[in-house]
Amino acid sequence: MARVYNFSAGPAVLPEEVLKEAAADMLDYKGCGMSVMEMSHRSSVFDEIIKTAEKDIRTLVGIPDNYKVLFHQGGGTMQFSAIPLNLKKNGVADYIITGNWAKKAAQEAEKYLKVNRIASSADKNFSYIPDCSDLPIDDDADYVYICENNTIYGTEYWTLPNTKGKDLVADVSSCFLSRPIDVKKYGVVYGGVQKNVGPAGLVIDIIREDLIRDDVPEYTPVLLKWKTQADKDSLYNTPNCWAIYICGLVFKWLLKNGGLTEMDRKNKEKAKLLYDFLDQSKLFKGTVEKKDRSVMNVPFVTGDKDMDAKFVAEATAAGLVNLKGHRTVGGMRASIYNAMPKAGVEKLVGFMEEFEKKNLK
Ligand SMILES: *Cc1c(COP(=O)(O)O)cnc(C)c1O
Repeated sequence: MARVYNFSAGPAVLPEEVLKEAAADMLDYKGCGMSVMEMSHRSSVFDEIIKTAEKDIRTLVGIPDNYKVLFHQGGGTMQFSAIPLNLKKNGVADYIITGNWAKKAAQEAEKYLKVNRIASSADKNFSYIPDCSDLPIDDDADYVYICENNTIYGTEYWTLPNTKGKDLVADVSSCFLSRPIDVKKYGVVYGGVQKNVGPAGLVIDIIREDLIRDDVPEYTPVLLKWKTQADKDSLYNTPNCWAIYICGLVFKWLLKNGGLTEMDRKNKEKAKLLYDFLDQSKLFKGTVEKKDRSVMNVPFVTGDKDMDAKFVAEATAAGLVNLKGHRTVGGMRASIYNAMPKAGVEKLVGFMEEFEKKNLK
């Protein structure tokens, strides 16, 4: 069975080299006679896996020494609860609403503190990023929250908000490791890994040390308290060993392939192929304001539901799969993460060209 070009928004495509390496290690990981799924998380073999993964992500991203890297379970969504619980001091937080994921994070935070929604792009179905240069930041805000790449709507922040000195918390699930970032500009950067990095269920948090506190609300579940995992090197209970191992392989793959600077170049090159085509097409059009376009998730429509469905069906038959858009946007969405080769995007654009020729009346 041949592999397809998988444009899924997540869980999403992983590098073929990584999958092959994991397959080769499956029955006998490096001579220890068992797979990574079967070994104790307290074993020296796993200790080496998690320590190496942390070392490699620190190198890749350039994480300063005063930031901790934590491997949590529960995916991105679990941190929607952990963030307000761990950062609550004055009991106020400012949220910028640029789509479903920011909306859900704000709803969850509201259980624990007062949430101000200080900007939103809901008026145009989240097709742009609001101007965040001079927002009404609350003097008492414990943090300012953004979703840096909006997986569903295909928008991405190319300038971080002016938080007026407050700590910035960013959900980077769908742009994680897609380009270099300056960690110092954030209090917390976190991402569920199944979009761009690894298998679902694991979330990686990069947190400035002073934000990892003991004085969190008493009712905070032990596993949601960042200090629990920080004190135990992410091994308070049995972690998602398999996901951590695969992420470690992906980090090695990224380091070998030029790191985040090179990923950034390749990702922008792939996205340009698709956006340039969309900009001149008479059948397809992008749904997002040009200046805010995501390099990872590219939604587009024909404006005709039946035509969209026909396109998705024919693309699937041609080995270009998971192109159906999210129900809130309709049409199509191509997620072109790190592991999507340029050849996949070229094939998609070629297919769209042919489809347009045949179907444009
Ligand atoms: C997918 C996604 C999430 C949710 O991740 P889960 O691991 O399913 O909880 C959160 N934020 C963003 C930006 C996402 O793309």
